[in-house]
Amino acid sequence: MTQTTPTPAAFTQRVFSGIKPSGGLTLGNYLGAIKRFVGMQGQMETIYCVVDLHAITVWQDPGELSHATREVAAGYIAAGLDPTQSILFNQSRVSGHAELAWIFNCVARVGWMNRMTQFKDKAGSNAEKVSLGLYAYPSLMAADILLYHATHVPVGEDQKQHVELTRDIAAKFNHDFKIDFFPETEAVIDGPATRVMNLRDGTKKMSKSGDSDMERINMRDDADTIAKKFRKAKTDPEPLPDTLDGLKDRAEARNLIDIYAALSDATPEAVISEYAGAGWGRFKPALADLAVAKLAPISEEMTRLMDDPAEIDRILADGADRARAIAAPILARTYEIVGLLR
Ligand code: ATP
Ligand code: MG
Repeated sequence: MTQTTPTPAAFTQRVFSGIKPSGGLTLGNYLGAIKRFVGMQGQMETIYCVVDLHAITVWQDPGELSHATREVAAGYIAAGLDPTQSILFNQSRVSGHAELAWIFNCVARVGWMNRMTQFKDKAGSNAEKVSLGLYAYPSLMAADILLYHATHVPVGEDQKQHVELTRDIAAKFNHDFKIDFFPETEAVIDGPATRVMNLRDGTKKMSKSGDSDMERINMRDDADTIAKKFRKAKTDPEPLPDTLDGLKDRAEARNLIDIYAALSDATPEAVISEYAGAGWGRFKPALADLAVAKLAPISEEMTRLMDDPAEIDRILADGADRARAIAAPILARTYEIVGLLR
């Protein structure tokens, strides 16, 4: 076999992550993902994708999908991702994601997929009726990451299991083909808000596809809506304690403290000592004011960017060209390793 592309001896440090255009962006997406994406920009090569192929694992209205794709891109840029410093693009523009996903479908084992808790949560009692794509989703996610030999993947806590599966797929590929080709990718899950919880049920995470709008803060909610949602957020009758230990069995209260900490770049310890003894009547309006102060400028910039969809499309197309250039030799080498002629 002729080898046209050398196998890298050491892997360049590279960040890859993405968000699905499956609805409007939430505070969970902002704190658990976008804000942290911005923090990694400039430290190493950063590639951030709008993962539209993941979105269609559940039904999406075509017109809304293209709008939501541009809106996630607008959210990235408005929050501080610079298309000249980071590669920003939408997944379906780079066909290598789907191609590598097929190869990984043949590497991953059904038993591995059956252990994925996100599939169980999303499929619920309807597991026979959901799409095959939803079941295979983690294999596409492994392809997203490994197509770029990404070494670091900033995600929320809910994606930890999928990044671990990505490592399993990489390891099995390397083992099966007796080659050190795909890196061991690391999930980067840090800071106080890696699992922002649902405002109505502190046992569930906040999600853009959740049932009720009242359970989440959307990045584009106006000030009154944000204040109302925090005011109505489920809490308990107790005032805030003076240490985090006092929040051990108070999931909803802990969530609001963590959100405050993440929004203000403080530690939860610092927030609890600032508000020790405060009732919700004091804390919730302060939290709402803080959220509005942080989100309103981003939301306004998103609105401005969405007024010029052609410019967003240009940025995404340019990002896709740059992404394809990194992916092409890795994909070509993968085909060679597997013995697929192209
Ligand atoms: P969906 O309900 O459609 O799954 P989602 O809100 O869960 O939407 P995703 O597109 O699945 O958003 O996830 C994008 C990124 O945002 C991932 O890194 C994920 O871990 C992170 N994320 C999502 N929800 C939260 C949350 N509540 N707290 C922290 N991070 C989150
Ligand atoms: Mg999700």
